[in-house]
Amino acid sequence: KKITIAIDGFSSTGKSTVAKQLAKALNYVYVDSGAMYRAVTLYAMQHGIISEAYFNVDRLVTELDHVQIGFKYNATLGFAEVYLNGKNVENDIRTLEVSQHVSRVAEISEVRRMLVRQQQVMGKEKGVVMDGRDIGTVVFPDAELKFFMTASAETRAKRRYKELLERHEHVSYEDVLKNVMSRDLIDSTREDSPLIKAQDALEIDNSDMSLVAQFEKLYNMAQR
Ligand code: C5P
Repeated sequence: KKITIAIDGFSSTGKSTVAKQLAKALNYVYVDSGAMYRAVTLYAMQHGIISEAYFNVDRLVTELDHVQIGFKYNATLGFAEVYLNGKNVENDIRTLEVSQHVSRVAEISEVRRMLVRQQQVMGKEKGVVMDGRDIGTVVFPDAELKFFMTASAETRAKRRYKELLERHEHVSYEDVLKNVMSRDLIDSTREDSPLIKAQDALEIDNSDMSLVAQFEKLYNMAQR
């Protein structure tokens, strides 16, 4: 019988990597909820609504009706890519610049309300693996299986740094570490749906775990 699997945790804990593998092995749908917050952020950046020194929250809230987010499965990649107003933005949302603004956008209650509603619709049918910050606490409090991933800030910054280099982004390790730590702080102290471990979530510190070991742990739990 299919279930709902929620994977939450701090930035760059490798949630999406293991979530994708798990969804594939179980023949479930994988939903990257962070991609949705990133897409809203990209919209705000493209429309002059947010920059380092500036954020017009009222305008973003007013324009939310114009922010159309969708997913389309890419068979070659083996997962669904995110679309913003009909355009594939899977790559554009992964830049350090988006990462530097996204947590401020994710603090806005109207943004959260809109995205949570969409996420709940996507998870209506069981057989979903969704990763994010509030999946086990807010989006699917009744999920049958919940994980909370952690790792040291340095481990996570190194992973993210490597990822950005592979995408040919010229960033410094220090900036990546700063971003990981600042997002964690904003995400876990915001008023609306702060990042906390759901009571019934299984915490996994993967600082010293291989991808295979992580996958096996989650897969075995899902098989029970
Ligand atoms: O998962 P990812 O790192 O791509 O998420 C980017 C940002 O989106 C997070 O740092 C957080 O601010 C926000 N987010 C959120 N709730 C979620 C998923 C992501 O607030 N469920």
